[in-house]
Amino acid sequence: MSVFDHPEFDNHEHVAFYHDEEAGLNAIIAVHNTNLGPALGGCRMWPYVNSGEALTDVLRLSKGMTYKAAMANLELGGGKSVIIGDPRKAKTPEMMKAMGKFVESLGGKYFTAEDSGISVTDLQTMATESDYIAGVHAKYHYAGEVPDGNPAPSTAYGVFVGLKATVEFGLKRSLEGVSVAIQGMGHVGYRLAKHLHEHGAKLYVADIYPEGVEKAVSELGATAVAPEEILSLDVDVLAPCALGAAINDQTLPLIKAKVIAGAANNQLAREDMGELLQQRGILYAPDYVINAGGVIDIFHQRMETSSNEALRAHIEQIGDTLKEIYTRAEQEGAATNRVANLIAEERFNLKG
Ligand code: NAD
Repeated sequence: MSVFDHPEFDNHEHVAFYHDEEAGLNAIIAVHNTNLGPALGGCRMWPYVNSGEALTDVLRLSKGMTYKAAMANLELGGGKSVIIGDPRKAKTPEMMKAMGKFVESLGGKYFTAEDSGISVTDLQTMATESDYIAGVHAKYHYAGEVPDGNPAPSTAYGVFVGLKATVEFGLKRSLEGVSVAIQGMGHVGYRLAKHLHEHGAKLYVADIYPEGVEKAVSELGATAVAPEEILSLDVDVLAPCALGAAINDQTLPLIKAKVIAGAANNQLAREDMGELLQQRGILYAPDYVINAGGVIDIFHQRMETSSNEALRAHIEQIGDTLKEIYTRAEQEGAATNRVANLIAEERFNLKG
């Protein structure tokens, strides 16, 4: 398997492979760039069909974390780790301990956190072997509630702040009376809906499962919409909060919203969807900028001294960062996702 000439290699600083036969662990840690600080990125456990697929995933994800951290004004770099295996069948405490040893062996160059297939309990087991496990001890909550280590409230608040800034810039209005279609009533989508409701927005919501939708209808006065109709609704704002690639060749021509601002990762099926949205006059909030509240949360939980207020103020910077992107995109006639990438590269290369 080639690493240095892998299509996703992109100047990674450090790629480490780890095998522990007794614990049944096969894992990879990728550290993309540490110019701004140690790399932070979750640990994903997934039944990859082979190690090549796992390598492609870890390289792509760790690079994405460098961009996300730079745009969130964090003194952090980007990294990620993957464990090859089915989290429902193959995971054991011994395996999590072995993963902790692997993280520890990088000596603080990489901090891990939660991702698909890995829970807070798994992180706690890893933390018995390593000091470099984030998201284990929660101390702060952006709204002063009791913190439980779940970053979703901070993510949702950041998406709310970012959506508001995008509406102000693109539609020149406040949220009062703005119609928003939210795809996905999960951990982030529901909380986003609650913030928007409190600020007078009109909500249309969809999910493939009924619970979140029913709650939004009864508690937030939202209108339930079929999942296959949510993206093409005639609304002001579309907020993708489900899976990736919501904006693709099939869905793009159907979108009527003038603003896209949601939590989902990798919303654009391809980067050139940015130009296609721009041509249609749709203002797109780059996903890794607007959904950075969770990583900002994890960063503050690890700080020696921070506060609920400092966490909140940091999340609120997402709005200013987005306005900076939109202003530059307008000046340069460029797509917002491209401008976000450029600004991130300027930031993390500056310290190089
Ligand atoms: P979640 O699993 O709690 O919620 C996702 C919801 O989307 C689920 O209720 C699911 O049933 C629904 N869904 C799936 N396919 C759908 C479809 N076709 N139509 C409508 N609904 C559909 O996940 P979450 O934590 O709320 O995260 C939502 C998105 O935000 C994900 O893309 C995630 O990667 C991203 N994100 C989350 C965080 C975080 O802190 N949780 C941080 C950054 C990014």
